[in-house]
Amino acid sequence: MHRAYKFLLRPTVRQTLALSEMLLDHCSLYNGALQERRDAYRHPSRTTVRYGQQSAQLKEIRAFDPERQGRWSFSSQQATLRRLDKAMQAFFRRVKSGDKPGYPRFRGVNWFDTVGFPKDGDGCRWDSTPHDPVTRVRLQGIGHIRVHQHRPVLGRVKTVSVKREGRQWYVILACDEVPAEPLPATGAACGIDMGIAHFLTTSEGEHQPSPRHGRLGAEALADAQRALKTFPRRKRENRTAKHRRAVEKAAALHRKVRRRRTDHAHKTALAMVRRYDVIAHERLSIANMVRAPKPKPDTENSGAFLPNGAAAKAGLNKSIHDAGWGVFLGILAHKAESAGRVLIPVDPRNTSRTCPVCGHVSGENRTTQEKFACTQCGHTANADLVGALNVAIRAGLVLPDVA
Ligand SMILES: [Zn+2]
Repeated sequence: MHRAYKFLLRPTVRQTLALSEMLLDHCSLYNGALQERRDAYRHPSRTTVRYGQQSAQLKEIRAFDPERQGRWSFSSQQATLRRLDKAMQAFFRRVKSGDKPGYPRFRGVNWFDTVGFPKDGDGCRWDSTPHDPVTRVRLQGIGHIRVHQHRPVLGRVKTVSVKREGRQWYVILACDEVPAEPLPATGAACGIDMGIAHFLTTSEGEHQPSPRHGRLGAEALADAQRALKTFPRRKRENRTAKHRRAVEKAAALHRKVRRRRTDHAHKTALAMVRRYDVIAHERLSIANMVRAPKPKPDTENSGAFLPNGAAAKAGLNKSIHDAGWGVFLGILAHKAESAGRVLIPVDPRNTSRTCPVCGHVSGENRTTQEKFACTQCGHTANADLVGALNVAIRAGLVLPDVA
């Protein structure tokens, strides 16, 4: 199995400076290579520059600029050129299919935050020796950086990347041959319904509450983003100190929301795989997740719409929820694979409007957010539970008359 591990780095002040310079130099390598491709593309002959040609120039670039480019690992520079190549190929693929994509852009140094090392031992070394209690990662041109290794690394380290997030630095290890950790069979199976009021409801009728921090985080984030809008649009270097702080605050809140979401998803997913051998869930459609929220007419005051701020908050709240389910299902899939559990994705259509007893489908079955009342057979139940039961029925886990 493949697994990725992400650990916080604890670089010294000198190492932090060196890490920033490494990003800066990789960024200028990326932009320089992009410039070359742009020039070739604009030239009447419409030449295409390929990865192989740019990679072949690396030796020269390093010899020409030993103070900067020459310091870093050759392979990591190749990885950066390959990243550009991927962006270009995606661009041409979209042009071919009739889209109008934007030409790949130059990256400002703040938009360039990752350096990849394609192979452990080549320009980088994951160093977790049993006799040293401190884990370090050695990077060419930087040295041995302390790693806050909060969990053991299983399997074989294939690639290493270094990433900047705000003021923090992380190392990300991609491993393969990670052994599975099967859990004992429990004989239990369930369907789950994911919702707003409850994060999830099982077909056994158990609710998992939505994380409180989701709403609080959304509010704080919406406030930070609104504050950001009061500043005039300016290039980064012309922003005032206040503006810069507001940008940093919004970014920090984004990271916080993301971190909490992942944490919550890990805990919830772990509890689920421990308990059930088989879990059925709605297949998430990406198209539904990214759809912009419709403006909400104010029911008390016909013709009027709720103020923009409220709609923005609700929209953001919804997008955080949607992202939460996506993250949860991704983590659930990983944990299920490792534990030897089975996941069954089912068609999500009408799971909230179908009567689990008689099969009658109608939007009127769902009277309110919480209540389900079948207009045909009169069956009433909690709406989230009905959703979970329908998911379980579709997966073949429960017979309809048992519901
Ligand atoms: Zn019914």
